[in-house]
Amino acid sequence: MQPAFPPGIAYIDGNYVPMSEAKISVLDWGFLRSDATYDVVHVWQGRFFRLDKHIERFEASIEKLRMQLPFERTRLEEILSECVRRAELDDAYVEMVLTRGVSPTFSRDPRDAIPTFIAFAIPFGWVANEDQRRRGIDLHLADVQRIPPSAVDPTVKNYHWLDLVTGLYQAYDAGAENVLLQDNAGNVAEGPGFNLFAVKDGRVTTPASGVLHGITRATALELLAEMGISAHAAPLPIDALLQADEAFITSTAGGIMAVRAVDAHTFPAGAPGAVTERLTALYWDKHQDPDWTTSVG
Ligand SMILES: *Cc1c(COP(=O)(O)O)cnc(C)c1O
Repeated sequence: MQPAFPPGIAYIDGNYVPMSEAKISVLDWGFLRSDATYDVVHVWQGRFFRLDKHIERFEASIEKLRMQLPFERTRLEEILSECVRRAELDDAYVEMVLTRGVSPTFSRDPRDAIPTFIAFAIPFGWVANEDQRRRGIDLHLADVQRIPPSAVDPTVKNYHWLDLVTGLYQAYDAGAENVLLQDNAGNVAEGPGFNLFAVKDGRVTTPASGVLHGITRATALELLAEMGISAHAAPLPIDALLQADEAFITSTAGGIMAVRAVDAHTFPAGAPGAVTERLTALYWDKHQDPDWTTSVG
């Protein structure tokens, strides 16, 4: 049976192709070693949201991995826009990937590899489905630890997801819908592709370290400040999460999404709680703001 592919367009080997034709070599280090970095930006009603921030993070990740993008930033922006235009999508999930690539002799020296750049635009996707977004998602706190920052730098967006996927199966076994991983000190870390926030007595906290610095996380912190709500990044012990009034998760794939429960614990302020609800509204309002958006053209 042929695998199914989402509609969309990829840029690979210098060509724009349907998703079903976007394929890499099995000898690519990105595939064999998860030696790659990527970023995901979204397009909403024909406009990229905070494209600069995503490109800055992508470039920083590339530099930390000692790789090099084979062209300038303006070319990158052109390719991303062209993928969206050709895919004919108003709302899109747009991924850019740079892998270590293939070394011509299959040498074990990463410096010999020639990087592979891929980009693609597919329909906008959500971490939480419609039902989960309306009544809040149910999370499971896994005993799996997130890969520690001393091992793999979590600020480089990466495909080291075996801890997250192991956690997801634990969540499904526990009857939950998604998972939250912890660090080695009993603090909350993050979930598969999202950051977490807890609200207690009008103050908002998101884990400071051991997590990807999500662009939606940064956006939430900025918007909360604009709303006059005290918000900061600091260690978030699991007990503090369980005593919170409300909680939400953040991701490019869905924005701000309420959490209904962490295992048997439901949040007293409900889902969405008042802060989550106001923040979500402001987040979507900002999709009209020319300072934060760029037309696909
Ligand atoms: C992408 C990602 C997030 C969310 O980051 P955004 O920039 O807000 O989309 C959080 N955690 C991990 C592990 C991720 O890969």
